[in-house]
Amino acid sequence: MDVAAQYLKDAQDHFAAAAPLIGLDTFPEEQWKAVIFSAIGAEKLLKHLLCRINPCLALKAVDFENTVMTWHADKVINPGKLADLKKKASPDVVTFKISVQRAAHFSAAVGQYAPFLHWLADLRDMAAHRPWAEVNEDHARIALCRDLYVAIEAIAGSISTDVIHLWGSHRSRLQALSAAMAEKLDVSLQMARLLKRHRDGWIERSKDPAVVSAAERTTHNRLAKEPYVEECKCPACGGIALAILKPDVEYSHDKNAEVPVVHVVGASIVAIQCSFCLLRLEKYDQLQHVNASALLARTDDLTVP
Ligand SMILES: [Zn+2]
Repeated sequence: MDVAAQYLKDAQDHFAAAAPLIGLDTFPEEQWKAVIFSAIGAEKLLKHLLCRINPCLALKAVDFENTVMTWHADKVINPGKLADLKKKASPDVVTFKISVQRAAHFSAAVGQYAPFLHWLADLRDMAAHRPWAEVNEDHARIALCRDLYVAIEAIAGSISTDVIHLWGSHRSRLQALSAAMAEKLDVSLQMARLLKRHRDGWIERSKDPAVVSAAERTTHNRLAKEPYVEECKCPACGGIALAILKPDVEYSHDKNAEVPVVHVVGASIVAIQCSFCLLRLEKYDQLQHVNASALLARTDDLTVP
């Protein structure tokens, strides 16, 4: 079985393990298990997507030794060379969030659901490292019941039609649950109302020159002084808003250093704030709805300055 197929098999197994734990009346211990299994499933699905294109895309460092030892060791004709290659190679693969960043280059669905995937990655970290009681269980339940199925099906569909059987026998139950909750909590409708309220508010506020110049001053000061802030277009009033970033980091272990070296390898948008119309977007489904990364003024890959 090639490595792409192995990742897909792992993704299928993890989603099948998560599926029975997803529901409206689950216990906390079922919920955190569902989060961990789904997050691992999603990461493996993204690595499957990358490896279908080229197995090296899942590697942290792409060089000759890593590439050969990780994916092509069986093709080396002189077995005596393997020990030497192994010594120089580091088989580390990229993290969940870096997988999202890379896979978004090849799948529009990954780009669209990036805010959800980042939220899932953060929640997995919470489940692994902190007391589960700190998590807003209602929010987590909505995300697992309403969004997980839709996001994963869209990503799987963007890879290939043969990426199926992700939910075991729970597929139709989860599909119906997600659709029923989407109807109940119509984000589009809520967002249309929210954006209109701020757009109308700005029409009134813009009549006062003092308000306008204060908003301009705040915006320009924050852009100039805060490192994790980027200019973006406000989805409500169309003015200059601020995208608040959270860096994605990776660690490397240098034998000579006492502590791991931290590398900032990208960033994700965690909020949009507008001083003109006072819009504040922080929930992942709000950021997803306005396609936050497409609002950025800069067009290159997002990294923290
Ligand atoms: Zn605005």
